[in-house]
Amino acid sequence: MNKKIGIMGGTFDPIHYGHLSTAETVRIKFDLDYILFVPTGNPPHKMRKITKKYHRYNMTILATISNDNFRVSTIELERDGYSYTVDTLKSIKQIHKDDELYFITGADAFCDMKDWYRADELFSLANFIGATRPGIDTTKFEEALKYIKDNYNKDVLTIHVPSLDISSTGIRKNVLEKKSVKYLIPENVERYIIKHNLYNS
Ligand code: NAP
Repeated sequence: MNKKIGIMGGTFDPIHYGHLSTAETVRIKFDLDYILFVPTGNPPHKMRKITKKYHRYNMTILATISNDNFRVSTIELERDGYSYTVDTLKSIKQIHKDDELYFITGADAFCDMKDWYRADELFSLANFIGATRPGIDTTKFEEALKYIKDNYNKDVLTIHVPSLDISSTGIRKNVLEKKSVKYLIPENVERYIIKHNLYNS
C-alpha cells in the first residue's frame, strides 16, 4: 500500500520540543504513516557557523528515538555542496516512487519558500504543510499562500500547532549563559549537549 510520508527538514541546532510537537501534531492531523526528520547538511540560508553535522544528526536521533513513527534521514548529510530542499525531495521521491510526500515547514520558513532554489520544480515534488503558531505574521503567511497558488497552482495545506515558545537560538543562548534548558529539549539531548560541550562559545 502507498504510504503518506511527512518530511520535516531542519537545521536542528539543536532539535527541541517545538519541532517534535509540530511533527506529531501534523502526523496525527494528516494521518501520515511516519515523519522523516531530515537534518540539513550545508544550509544555504544560515549566515552563522552551525554545529557539526554529526552532532545535529545524533541529537535528532536521540530526540526521536522514543517515537515509533519518527525516523531520521542522512540524505542531506551525505551530499556535498549546499542542501537544497528540491534535491532532497527528488532523492526521496526516487526511493519512495509510489508514496506521497508531505513537506512540513513552520510559518517563518514557509514565507520565504517562494525564493528557495528551483521553486517551480520544488512545488511539483510534494504536498506542503505550513504550520502556524500564535504570534506569527499571519498577513505575510497568507500572502505567501496566495503567491504559491497564483504562481505554482499549488494549494498548501495548513495547520495551527500549539504554542511552544521555544527556539534553537534561545536554547543555544541559555546554554551559553548557563541557564536551564529543562523541558525545552528532551533530557537525552540536554545530556548530549553537556557531554560534547556544545554551544559554550
Ligand atoms: P529549523 O530552524 O531547525 O526549524 C525547522 C522547522 O521547525 C522550521 O520549519 C521551523 O519553523 C519549525 N519550528 C522551529 N521552532 C518551532 C516551534 N517552537 N514550534 C513549531 N515549529 C517550530 O530549520 P530551518 O533552518 O528553518 O530549515 C527548515 C527547512 O527549510 C530545512 O529543511 C531547510 O533545508 C529548508 N530550506 C531550504 C532552502 C532551499 O532549498 N533553498 C532555503 C531555506 C530553508 P519556523 O521557520 O517558523 O521557525
